[in-house]
Amino acid sequence: MTFSNGVAAALKKVTIRTEAFIGGEFTPARSGETLPCITPIDGSEIAQLSACDAADIDAAVQAARASFESGVWSKMPPRKRRQVMLAFADKIEAHSDELALLETLDMGKPIRNTRNADIPLVVQTIRYYAEAIDKIYDELGPSPHDAVSMIVREPLGVVGAVTPWNFPLLMASWKFAPALATGNSVIMKPAEQASLTMLRAAELAQEAGIPAGVLNVVPGDGAKAGKALALHMDVDALVFTGSTAVGKLIMGYGAQSNLKRVALECGGKSPQIIMEDCPDFDAAASAAAWAVFYDQGQVCTAGTRLLVQNSIKDEFLAKVAAVAKGLKPGDPLDENTRFGALVDETQMNTVLGYIEKGGAEGAKLVCGGERALSESGGFYVAPTIFDGVDNQMTIAQEEIFGPVISAIGFDDFDDAMRIANDTVYGLAAGIWTSNLNYAHKASRTIRAGNVWVNCWDGSDITTPFGGFKQSGFGRDRSLHALDKYTELKTIWMKLS
Ligand code: NAD
Repeated sequence: MTFSNGVAAALKKVTIRTEAFIGGEFTPARSGETLPCITPIDGSEIAQLSACDAADIDAAVQAARASFESGVWSKMPPRKRRQVMLAFADKIEAHSDELALLETLDMGKPIRNTRNADIPLVVQTIRYYAEAIDKIYDELGPSPHDAVSMIVREPLGVVGAVTPWNFPLLMASWKFAPALATGNSVIMKPAEQASLTMLRAAELAQEAGIPAGVLNVVPGDGAKAGKALALHMDVDALVFTGSTAVGKLIMGYGAQSNLKRVALECGGKSPQIIMEDCPDFDAAASAAAWAVFYDQGQVCTAGTRLLVQNSIKDEFLAKVAAVAKGLKPGDPLDENTRFGALVDETQMNTVLGYIEKGGAEGAKLVCGGERALSESGGFYVAPTIFDGVDNQMTIAQEEIFGPVISAIGFDDFDDAMRIANDTVYGLAAGIWTSNLNYAHKASRTIRAGNVWVNCWDGSDITTPFGGFKQSGFGRDRSLHALDKYTELKTIWMKLS
């Protein structure tokens, strides 16, 4: 099995930018260092990416600060800023096939996902925040007759964003779109495993009229470029999506430097609860499978803890396993592939390590459990289900970030609630039940930022997204996200 011809053909259809985008220009890392950019489709090198460090971050911060202070964007009339952002969204849309291809080449998710979901959602995100620009009003307080109190929102200044590889451009857009809409200048530090679409998007932003220095992209290792951005004394806010472990570091960097604002969207270990009165077992089984196998499980909200009432567990798991067994890992560039590659060899080995640990701790392997398509040279793991999992096992407590379901039995509703909340995470949860009381009680009992009833992953740009507990704080999406990028100012005027 070789996918290399497809990779070679796809490379001819994309524009690959590998250097940092600072002050409106592509520029190599000041150190001259580069990182190999490997496609997980067949394990081949497709580019050398600039490996930036603190010196490049400093240049980007200077460019961002200068653009912010100049007012070229921060003081642009709102309607004009809206027009430029709409033009940016149009550019992304016009290049959506190319960006979808680039995303798939870079991180291995199926082209049908990047083309039908990721890139259209990026366009929607930029449009949503562009439209908000000239529709949100400030406030007047209930002041006495001889005074006027105004409560206004102002941009923060220079915003740094450190983002993950699982939805590279979409997660980035959840940051840069509201940050730009509110008039900030931005520095993006994309994940080193998947930086290509963000670099290309910055070029398209400039073509759309976003002024030089307003949107900068600095690729490189997290421990160098990301850390330098989070520690920089002239960055006003650091917004982050990634693992909880790195989120904790980011919070520390904020405290060690200038007390910059920090917002964290971190990991999850979400429970998907199937009650014996589930209204539609087939729909629930399909949702339970796709809640973990979509994008090969590299989704922060993945419903990896499948809690099934013991009275129906065997029958239900057989249905989920049937979905899993029908899902064959395949070439991510093939339109028919629904299950692609993991992002890189390291991630593949991490997932295989967890699978080994699950077996060693006594969980029962129902299906999958092994590397797939190794002859392609790429990084694939078969959809995997473990039964007989205890919630204290490693595979029930730690985020695997791969296609692994840990099925856990429970006796009754209270038991399910106890297990659901027995985790350090709180990003998402789901419950399938016909009982209105259970649906409502579960929604309020589970400590998570998103709760789904009789569905999984229902979401929209209009609704907030984020976590409780160690899944982080701060919200992406919706108008609530604008709070992260603005400072409230009170102006009290005494009248004579
Ligand atoms: P990661 O934490 O390894 O990396 C995220 C980003 O942090 C990357 O850009 C990386 O370069 C950077 N980084 C790494 N070390 C750093 C350091 N010391 N200082 C500053 N930056 C550093 O996460 P990942 O593997 O890229 O992404 C997967 C994780 O992201 C999972 O835990 C997943 O749950 C989480 N995630 C969360 C959400 C959400 O909205 N809650 C969404 C998507 C992904």
